[in-house]
Amino acid sequence: MNTEITYAQSLDEQDELKSFREEFYISNDLIYFDGNSLGLLSKRAEKAVNTLMESWKKHAIDGWSEGAHPWFYLSENLGKMSADLIGARPEEVIVTGSTTTNLHQLVSSFFKPKGKKTKILADELNFPSDIYALKSQLQLKGLDPEDHLIQVKSKNGNTLETQDIIDAMTDEVALIVLPAVLYRSGQILDMERLTKEAHKRGILIGFDLCHSIGSIPHQLADWQVDFAFWCTYKHLNGGPGSVGGLYVNQKHFGTSPGLAGWFGSAKDKQFDMKHTLTQAEHAGAFQIGTPHVLSAAPLLGSLEMFQEAGIRRIRKKSLELTNYLMELIEVELADDGFKIVNPRDGQTRGAHIFLEHPEATRICKALKADSVIPDFRNPNGIRLAPVALYNTFEEVWQMVQILKRIMKEESYKKYENSRGVIA
Ligand SMILES: *Cc1c(COP(=O)(O)O)cnc(C)c1O
Repeated sequence: MNTEITYAQSLDEQDELKSFREEFYISNDLIYFDGNSLGLLSKRAEKAVNTLMESWKKHAIDGWSEGAHPWFYLSENLGKMSADLIGARPEEVIVTGSTTTNLHQLVSSFFKPKGKKTKILADELNFPSDIYALKSQLQLKGLDPEDHLIQVKSKNGNTLETQDIIDAMTDEVALIVLPAVLYRSGQILDMERLTKEAHKRGILIGFDLCHSIGSIPHQLADWQVDFAFWCTYKHLNGGPGSVGGLYVNQKHFGTSPGLAGWFGSAKDKQFDMKHTLTQAEHAGAFQIGTPHVLSAAPLLGSLEMFQEAGIRRIRKKSLELTNYLMELIEVELADDGFKIVNPRDGQTRGAHIFLEHPEATRICKALKADSVIPDFRNPNGIRLAPVALYNTFEEVWQMVQILKRIMKEESYKKYENSRGVIA
């Protein structure tokens, strides 16, 4: 392997997506590898917010129907703009809610325990919020989560085996909710196969796309996935608290939303103000209340960039970046005690690298002091996400050099071995 900086620079030269970096607010004194927690602000996203502020300023209440992006149709339009990212039909996607509220909405709509089928299947590695939501949904149905939530175990603490998940699809399972990409190890689950196996057994299946949307391609419609949900502040660069999204396969159009509200109405009926809901005939039916217009606005700019770059080109560069990062770590940090625990192959590796090290807390503090932003995961994990739209191969090279120096000089020992409130 070539460990020279000039090699990194030549990879940047050849990078088809390199011009997108200039569209982001990036400090040249900072190496930001945390775009899988909070993506960076782009000029287009900022401009989109200003445009919607203008429409408020200029049109006031009429902004719902006038201006560059009438607010009444914003969620649907953003849904259409997101569809290609997940391989869905435009009417199967709506931008609304947050990951957790959308999960609540979808489970309350699609979990219908009946006869023997009363259980929900999840995994033991998922993000806590998803598990809290599933447990509370079971409780709302009068079911004890202790017996009704099955969590597939991981053999190594980091990844799941497809066969273990399939083996857990018993005839007591009514619904399955799994991440598409695991938030710690970055493993991509085999959504196509899992969906096929679930359907063979009469089980509905949905995926959490928080770490997969904007980072890998999906074919949810072809795979017949029943539903999915996600946030937009990670790889989609929508900004802190930006509005999330959900997908419902067209075969489920007409299913009553578990949590109904007037924004789930057919658009032409909403202002009839009837006390009987005529729900939208597409994924829009799963909206609840008034859209958070200003928190959805950045997506107008940021999704446009994804449309231009194309998710396949993004994925290709992302794999090259993470591959380069892993190779450098293996050569340059061979004796420093790092363990690469994310999957290696391009089939099951998501868009970030996950390292384990007993001194992970202090190493992350030392990296931050040296202007590298990693992502610490309790108790001993370091996530590094070089993002295709705005990070460079040279930044990967520099980060590894900084880390090498930190390890050689043991400068991490200056820091306390305790984590902050947010980590
Ligand atoms: C980021 C993330 C969340 C966060 O949920 P919010 O409702 O957006 O706060 C939930 N689940 C997973 C898997 C995540 O990665």
